[in-house]
Amino acid sequence: MRTEFDINSNDNALFVTAQCNNHCLMCCQPPGKVDDIESLYEHNIQLLYSAPKELKVLGITGGEPTLLGGKLITLLQEVRKCLPETAIQLLSNGRAFKDTAFTREVCQAAGENFFVGIPFHSDYSGDHNLIAGSKHAYDETMTGLYNLADAGVEIELRVVVNKLNYTRLPRMAEYIFKNLPFVAWTAFMGMERVGLSVKNAEKIWVEPNEYAPILREAVMAMDDWRMDVAIYNIPLCLLPHDCWPFAKQSISDWKVKFLAICNDCDVKEMCCGLFSTSKCKFQGIKPMNL
Ligand code: SF4
Repeated sequence: MRTEFDINSNDNALFVTAQCNNHCLMCCQPPGKVDDIESLYEHNIQLLYSAPKELKVLGITGGEPTLLGGKLITLLQEVRKCLPETAIQLLSNGRAFKDTAFTREVCQAAGENFFVGIPFHSDYSGDHNLIAGSKHAYDETMTGLYNLADAGVEIELRVVVNKLNYTRLPRMAEYIFKNLPFVAWTAFMGMERVGLSVKNAEKIWVEPNEYAPILREAVMAMDDWRMDVAIYNIPLCLLPHDCWPFAKQSISDWKVKFLAICNDCDVKEMCCGLFSTSKCKFQGIKPMNL
């Protein structure tokens, strides 16, 4: 849990609860049943008062932040009072936004410069629900996405690539193009090997080497359709060269690491590196020579 903000960090966030109404197979921070909302709220309000006004981005994360209900709205109002210029990034499974009135209240409290990151596990509802660990997840998240779009919020759609969805990536890209054209951008994300992704490795783990050609197909199609698309958390040496322009330095500064062999790599400065928190590294890491 954060106790102060670092103006030089790319990862300033308020952790608002460990609870979640999904139970995603690859969750890096498995949800807890602790009654933590009140105590974390008080902690976060104190933290906010010490926040530097120049903070560029503030994350709100969990668990599932919308489980705060009305307290999320109050928290957003406080953030706006303390940090009027800061971008707010809310990470949510999107299910609570099926409620139109709640969606409007959240958006009103957050004001301008607000975006929401929502996971999209599959265009096929059965797979989405299986990965999210809830039979209601797909319907509620889809309704939530439309309500957020209607409220004019910027949406980052987050696709964590795994064994259960990677073969469908091109179909997911087409689905997003046809059904969710309002999203601001789509991020295809490599998995962090920690938490439930370790426990469920048999079901969920797949190496980037295996899915890179299929990921490329999805990314290139979206780019052809002039949709904004990005790749997070996958080192450049595991991606086809023409995917490099889409790869972002997405790993939080406090948990990024490079291997000793990365010192011989010509693209280290542009690479996202690896999760220091992952229990084992991706296969096939090798220095690139330009
Ligand atoms: S060798 Fe290291 S720095 Fe180079 S692309 Fe791979 S992970 Fe990145």
